[in-house]
Amino acid sequence: MSKPTFYRTAGENAMGRLLPVDRFWLNRDPVVRDIVIFGGTFDPVHHGHLIVARAIAEQRGFQRILLVPAARSPHKASVAAPAEHRLAMLRLATEGEALFEVSEMEIDRSGPSYTIDTLAELIRLRGPGARPSLVIGADMLPDLPLWHRAAELVRMADILVAYRPHWQDQIDAALALLEGPLGTEVVERLRRSVVASPLIDISSTQVRQRVRQGKSIRFLVPEAVRGYIEEHRLYRG
Ligand code: ATP
Repeated sequence: MSKPTFYRTAGENAMGRLLPVDRFWLNRDPVVRDIVIFGGTFDPVHHGHLIVARAIAEQRGFQRILLVPAARSPHKASVAAPAEHRLAMLRLATEGEALFEVSEMEIDRSGPSYTIDTLAELIRLRGPGARPSLVIGADMLPDLPLWHRAAELVRMADILVAYRPHWQDQIDAALALLEGPLGTEVVERLRRSVVASPLIDISSTQVRQRVRQGKSIRFLVPEAVRGYIEEHRLYRG
């Protein structure tokens, strides 16, 4: 795996270590103004992630989406593959695709990967007035109030809710339940930001399960990711 480039201008993290700087926030291309984050464990990345992210970019006119793998997801008890492998697979999956940029910012941070910290860091790097968008699948909606500092998070970013098989019919009900914890105004905003993205019935759980069972994962993940999983014997045991 290629090593990230370190730039002194990025400043240092709490431990005095230099932070890797993504091209994302150094990018001087005036066309790429949006900050669009798609976070997850990507354990592994699959075609569902990529197709949905691209559809959202097309529908909303985004030029760049930042894929941010979590070091340790607060939403999941554990991850199956270590961060370095999940990162390498994301890089392979998106190689040569200008729409995507893979960020190491959560992996580089110690502790659980709270989305609000990621948003705050991007806003700090992009300057005051920056307003990030955050893409989540519909399955994440019911638990939104449980996210770390959820009330602040929903004010800080525009949250885009992607359709997901088995969940898209429950979006209205989930939104209604959010009115109590998050308030009517936030829920109205969320309702307007539901994106009718393609329904791709693939999950990382399914991919891991198929590998464990010795079944093919061809067509579920990019070929390069499939090769990487095989080469590194991931998800077997
Ligand atoms: P797992 O099966 O391990 O829970 P996952 O397939 O849900 O993983 P994650 O990396 O946890 O993948 O998901 C990251 C983000 O992508 C989440 O917001 C999730 O809702 C969304 N997402 C994942 N797969 C899809 C899909 N097929 N369609 C729409 N959204 C998806």
